[in-house]
Amino acid sequence: MATDLDDPSRIVIVSGASSGIGEATARHFAAGGDHVVNLDVRPPAADAPGQWIEVDVADWSDVERAVAAVHDEHGRLDVVIANAGISLRHGVLDITEAQARRTLEVNLLGVLALWRAAAERMLPRRKGVLLATASVNGTRGYPLYADYNASKAGVASLCQTFGLELAPWIRTACVTPGAVLTPMQRAEYTDEMLAEVNACIPMRRHADPAEIAAMFHFLASDQARFITGQEFVVDGGETAGATTAF
Ligand code: NAD
Repeated sequence: MATDLDDPSRIVIVSGASSGIGEATARHFAAGGDHVVNLDVRPPAADAPGQWIEVDVADWSDVERAVAAVHDEHGRLDVVIANAGISLRHGVLDITEAQARRTLEVNLLGVLALWRAAAERMLPRRKGVLLATASVNGTRGYPLYADYNASKAGVASLCQTFGLELAPWIRTACVTPGAVLTPMQRAEYTDEMLAEVNACIPMRRHADPAEIAAMFHFLASDQARFITGQEFVVDGGETAGATTAF
């Protein structure tokens, strides 16, 4: 079994690392020398770093099996980033039960399952960091994404309670992005919509996924050792306050 002395790089699990924010995050950590394990329903790019395990985060036995396998292979888990998520656009009267359940099972219960399985294995070493991707949609009302918004508010709540229960040994934090130009986000836009959204953001653009990855990298580091239970908004000023025309 591997030990810290055998392998100084951290063992980092990232869910949803085959695309977008997760992919950028996996590449960022791997570039820093960490060993990355990607849990995703889809295969990653051919040049993606680390390992891929096919996992549906909504399936708790799938998540448990994957986390156990990573822990058995490496002898420890250092950082877990619960990032996999889905969003569907629909008015509150059009949401179907199946869509709402799926959104909550992936975005909210998927985080709970992954963090729970990881925390159980981190606690004996009294060390570890649990991170997740929330969203500014969870911090205020946002039309046409009721189930998604609720799932992300729930992630911020999980972050608080896991942080309290697992302190002082295990730290938690969420990154709460505004608009990030990823495949998930781009697929929802026409060119006109993209320009309109950019105009509503004080920085006048979407985030690059690498800018979210950089925040995860900081939160996972020892520089963030006094941080737990909190969410960190990275949104180009979108939710800083009211926008005015003058
Ligand atoms: P994306 O679609 O580019 O990537 C999501 C990844 O998650 C994909 O690789 C997908 O296969 C995987 N995935 C989806 N369902 C899964 C499941 N059940 N099990 C395992 N893997 C699954 O999306 P993205 O924009 O990079 O989003 C990543 C996270 O960031 C999501 O949680 C999303 O809600 C959040 N977020 C995105 C934005 C944005 O503007 N893009 C803003 C705020 C929050």
